[in-house]
Amino acid sequence: MLVLILIALSIVWFFTNREANSIADANLLINETQDPVFSPTSTATLTAADLLPKGQEIKASILMYHHIGPLPQGADDIRKGLTVSKTTFDSQMKKLKDGGYNVITLNELYSKIPTSVPEKTVVLTFDDGYEDNASEALPILQKYGFRGTFFIITSKVASADYMNEDQIKDLVKNGNEIGSHTVYHIGLDTVKGPTLDNEIKDSKTYLDKLLNQNTTSFCYPAGKFSDEAKADLLKDGYRIAVTTEASKGTFSTDNIYQVPRYRVNPGSTLSFLPVVGVEPTTKQ
Ligand SMILES: [Zn+2]
Repeated sequence: MLVLILIALSIVWFFTNREANSIADANLLINETQDPVFSPTSTATLTAADLLPKGQEIKASILMYHHIGPLPQGADDIRKGLTVSKTTFDSQMKKLKDGGYNVITLNELYSKIPTSVPEKTVVLTFDDGYEDNASEALPILQKYGFRGTFFIITSKVASADYMNEDQIKDLVKNGNEIGSHTVYHIGLDTVKGPTLDNEIKDSKTYLDKLLNQNTTSFCYPAGKFSDEAKADLLKDGYRIAVTTEASKGTFSTDNIYQVPRYRVNPGSTLSFLPVVGVEPTTKQ
């Protein structure tokens, strides 16, 4: 009798365990197929550029912002040129909302390229990681249900006028994307070897750790880059990089590490982005 009970228990144990194993296998399969190339351990063979269709024109307007909010006392012309007031920023976001624009992050844009990028796609990018991005821009983005991509100079985190770690984490919690804008904001056309490597790799390592993410978006300081910098980005697992080259809305998949943007000036009405049924009244 005891033997029979033991046999019965063994049979039950065998089937229960087999089911658990097959569920575990299925989960593993799903995890592996979700992002096979960019899992942290498998960047060696395929690269971001390899995955994209060659020579395809992508239509997306990538807007470049710096400061949002009021000007400090005694602001010079450079600061003024980099600052969009809250009122103007709000009206720009309202225009995108009213116009039915598809506002996505840079990494989301990259992910949509192999299938299709929706019509009227806009990416909002913010360079340098200024404190007003958290205090002024974020509430307006939230008001319209939009999310942005914020490029952080990692050595500047928590210094005067720049976001601290909690503010950066809070952006992520609210669905925004964080990308690298190097460690020291050096023009990458003038540095080589280990100095260049550090700017690209150390900033990613810092953000990966801080945000428990795989940082895939990059922004060149002052838009300056070199072939060596692009090769480093690819080697270190970045998928896409933006410049300050001007474009209102197209780039080629061949230039995924050299994506142009539209610089939003303080008085811009984004008049190049049409709103159906509403003609822009102010010329830019
Ligand atoms: Zn910058």
